[in-house]
Amino acid sequence: MKVMSSIYLDWAATAPPDPEIQEQMQKIARTIYANPAAIHRLGREGEKFLSHCRQRMADLLGCGSEELVFTSGATESNNMVLFSLLHKKRDRRVLISGIEHSSVYQPAQTLKQLGFEVVLVPADRSGRIDPNRIFSALDESTVLVAVMLVNNETGRIQPVREISEAVQDFQKRSGKKVLLHTDAVQAFGKIPFQPSQLGVDSAALSAHKLAGPRGVGALFVRSGRIQRFLYSGGGQEFDLRPGTENLPGIAGFVLAAEKAIGGLEENHRRAVAAMSSLLEELAGMPEVVLVPGGGASDRAVDFSPYILNLSIPPLPGEVLVRVLEEEGFIVSTGAACSSKKKDRFRVLENMGIPGQIASSALRVSTGPKVEPAELEAFAAALKRRVPELMKNITD
Ligand code: PMP
Repeated sequence: MKVMSSIYLDWAATAPPDPEIQEQMQKIARTIYANPAAIHRLGREGEKFLSHCRQRMADLLGCGSEELVFTSGATESNNMVLFSLLHKKRDRRVLISGIEHSSVYQPAQTLKQLGFEVVLVPADRSGRIDPNRIFSALDESTVLVAVMLVNNETGRIQPVREISEAVQDFQKRSGKKVLLHTDAVQAFGKIPFQPSQLGVDSAALSAHKLAGPRGVGALFVRSGRIQRFLYSGGGQEFDLRPGTENLPGIAGFVLAAEKAIGGLEENHRRAVAAMSSLLEELAGMPEVVLVPGGGASDRAVDFSPYILNLSIPPLPGEVLVRVLEEEGFIVSTGAACSSKKKDRFRVLENMGIPGQIASSALRVSTGPKVEPAELEAFAAALKRRVPELMKNITD
């Protein structure tokens, strides 16, 4: 997709806007503006529209509408789940995968400072969290397991269904309840995702990765599984996330999700084909190391076709981003949320990727509008520029 004469390949950070969604949001903002909590006719209309949106979203997820809380984004959804543990005794154990987004990792660090035992379960070199590792880290004091569904830096799909079976098995044997949470931001609307089929208790979703608005997201949560900790107010969103509802944003999110899920299979097929031809081009470049590796056939099953992480050591990722920008391509070094942080290689290091490869990592992420020819042009730009850059750095 061309943006001001550049080809935008940073969809995992945020998707370019969709004019139809923007128009729909503006229309709702103009017409259904009353506070849904108001008892007058306009308020009742707002409430009716909100229920309609919630039901449409619940239908997409195959869950009950009472299991869906609209939030200000996945960061808030993830924080709500982790901080709900503050109602529990502080000596409890929390298991999170070592490759979680900062909106799970950072609240877990806060829980640690407050006395919880936080165990980071590392991924293997293929970027996968082994369910057996989760199983062996579960103990009688464990209250939460959080493993994301699609990693935002590598695209690796995690075996959340198997992890859920391991957790259920543990619950049966120990009689203890463990909350299983998944951050489904990079999965929802891109690969099939239904919380009940995965067997999770809660899941975080975000609108802007699907060309919906920023600052809007949702938390799927099975009834009664979490308690609000941080905010109290007017009782909206089942009192889990009080505050006047962002109706235009919610409407935009639901439309974005319907469009993404309606086109999911076709888009996925196209993305797999485009990614395969990019992988073929890159296979001819000995300098390129795929992170975590694997050929097109492994990737077809285990990875999202929308995210590719590659490294060209010893070229720093930042240099590659700049050079590619000169060539007209917008890519990133990794998660936008941690690109300026000291621990920005945390996710790759937790997969056992050596520092030199991690510091050279480049994330190429696409969406339904990206054409195969654009990815071919990207590979051609790498082929044009990398030999000269390598020569300069080794001279
Ligand atoms: N989790 C993952 C995996 C993400 O990629 C992102 C977006 N960077 C988030 C959570 C946070 O989502 P939001 O921007 O809606 O807060």
